[in-house]
Amino acid sequence: MPPRLEVQNLNRAFDGQRVVADVSFGVPAGQVACLLGPSGCGKSTTLRMIAGVDMQDSGRIFVDGKLVCDTVFRLPPERRAIGLMFQDFALFPHLPVSENVAFGLKGGHAANRARVAELLDRVRMTSHIDSYPHELSGGEQQRVALARALAPRPRVLLMDEPFSGLDERLRDGIRDETLALLKEEGTAVLLVTHEPHEAMRMADQILLMRDGRIVQQGAPYNLYNAPADRQVAAFFSDIN
Ligand code: ADP
Ligand code: MG
Repeated sequence: MPPRLEVQNLNRAFDGQRVVADVSFGVPAGQVACLLGPSGCGKSTTLRMIAGVDMQDSGRIFVDGKLVCDTVFRLPPERRAIGLMFQDFALFPHLPVSENVAFGLKGGHAANRARVAELLDRVRMTSHIDSYPHELSGGEQQRVALARALAPRPRVLLMDEPFSGLDERLRDGIRDETLALLKEEGTAVLLVTHEPHEAMRMADQILLMRDGRIVQQGAPYNLYNAPADRQVAAFFSDIN
């Protein structure tokens, strides 16, 4: 069986400067892969190409073995069965929680009461179903955003620094809750982060990126115990 998400030899340059260089990896269903690396190394650009909001110069993207994008064929973002949860991908302020969660579903909340109820229960937001985003705390908004991203049962979920806007004291709790729900839903997740601690806590597989390239990939304990070089070791050395 092919992995749920497969990326082969992705390349992207801006103004002649290569920011994603020959990136290849696979994410099986039910697993979380963390694309980890310092700011500016090319993580968000990689995610944007997989989402379909940016176009690679070369390389191919597959979902469940089906071609989603290469240099001649390009499935539009809404037909990729790929969900997004970006840092600046806020809730819709004019819609209550119920309609925010149902946003990606045909017929809105009225046609999808069971699915919305199931997800709100799972993120402990049932009592806020009629609230508006501005009435919620940052952590609560984040939980609703997760429910919204998962509602259409995406085959792949892309998350770009999803916890970075949250209070540091809340983050580990929300990371653990998020991970539990992702595992229950069984989607393949590609999570971008610049924090080694977050990748160690959440990843089945870490893809360590530097200057547009994946310099090491494997289970968290492999990278931690057997770093490929001094820079990788240094990156993991100040883990909290
Ligand atoms: P990361 O998410 O790892 O912080 P990005 O993928 O956002 O990194 O950016 C990688 C590099 O590509 C950076 O040097 C950034 O300035 C550059 N870059 C990203 N998007 C564009 C763009 N649309 N035009 C020009 N340069 C860009
Ligand atoms: Mg980024």
